[in-house]
Amino acid sequence: MLNDVAVVLEHMEGVLAEVSFEMLAKGRELARASGGRLVAVLPGHGVRNLVDELGAADVVTLVEHEALAHYTPEAYVRALAAALTALEPRAALVASSSMGLDQAGALSVRLGWPLCAYCRDAHLDGDGLSAVSQIYGGKLLAEAVVQGAHAICAMLPGAAQAAEGRAPGTPAVEMISPPDLVALPVRFKRLIRPEAGDVDITRESVLVSVGRGIQSQDNIPLLEELAHALGGALSASRPIVDQGWLPKTRQVGKSGLSVKPKLYVAVGISGAPEHIEGMRGAELILAINTDPGAPIFDVAHYGVVSDLFDVLPLLTEKIKSRA
Ligand SMILES: Cc1cc2nc3c(=O)[nH]c(=O)nc-3n(C[C@H](O)[C@H](O)[C@H](O)COP(=O)(O)OP(=O)(O)OC[C@H]3O[C@@H](n4cnc5c(N)ncnc54)[C@H](O)[C@@H]3O)c2cc1C
Repeated sequence: MLNDVAVVLEHMEGVLAEVSFEMLAKGRELARASGGRLVAVLPGHGVRNLVDELGAADVVTLVEHEALAHYTPEAYVRALAAALTALEPRAALVASSSMGLDQAGALSVRLGWPLCAYCRDAHLDGDGLSAVSQIYGGKLLAEAVVQGAHAICAMLPGAAQAAEGRAPGTPAVEMISPPDLVALPVRFKRLIRPEAGDVDITRESVLVSVGRGIQSQDNIPLLEELAHALGGALSASRPIVDQGWLPKTRQVGKSGLSVKPKLYVAVGISGAPEHIEGMRGAELILAINTDPGAPIFDVAHYGVVSDLFDVLPLLTEKIKSRA
């Protein structure tokens, strides 16, 4: 229906992605403004149990087919195009994630609906849908106003609070038959998991993150000690990983992982847009940097302008003495 807002859910191995709940939170806000329903679009096979987690939606549109058991761009885009054509929502939110980036552009072309990519925010009012996109790796924000009946917004992870997209209750389910999903050009063969055995920094509630200010691999134990005292784990900016000082699994940012710990301590990290993109969702950010003009201080809640080699031993000692 023309005032509805659709959220394209993302899931893997039976688990809904965090960004799906963030989009439900944003979708709820948009649906309130448009006066329409919030429709969660769930493509997959054997995923009906996920509906119990979707209490924030007014209705779930389930697109069920065995060809959707594993993610492949072609099958999912065909199925989603059929669902969105039937639903005709005012706005469709798709994640700006590895899967969502496959889908958003392809859906825009198939449906002929305009796409706002890399959205940090979106609003619906009398002028239509307006979206704020983050471009040039976050260096610029661009506002676009989309007139017309439909629009797709590819929402960046971290653009809304996932907690607000979680609500109790089981919404009504509508089934949509997917189109003929045969003769697909891409076939799922197997899932290759990242190297096991390392810490999953996306699940840690405290991260101490090391940047180029650390100067040498030999100094990393200083941060390890702080992380240990705080009961957290070590993460890093990209140059630390590029130099092989820490594994790729510890990299935060655009080409690494997005993290949302309760506490993120950025040590000797300048705060390049590509790094900020991966950690701006942290609840509390503490930055330690010698340069008072470092962009990391623009997102930090607390900042220490000082040499990390002076601050870290004192900080670690203080925390240990309180433990
Ligand atoms: C396509 C692309 C993808 C990228 N993806 C990522 C990504 O995923 N993650 C990422 O992090 N980067 C990424 N980058 C790189 C990014 O642009 C920056 O180059 C990088 O984040 C900088 O890392 P840094 O802050 O550790 O180093 P620098 O920018 O060199 O900053 C070092 C900081 O340490 C401070 N410092 C120096 N000495 C001390 C001291 N003794 N005490 C305290 N502070 C000190 C300095 O003042 C400075 O601010 C990407 C870049 C591109 C182009």
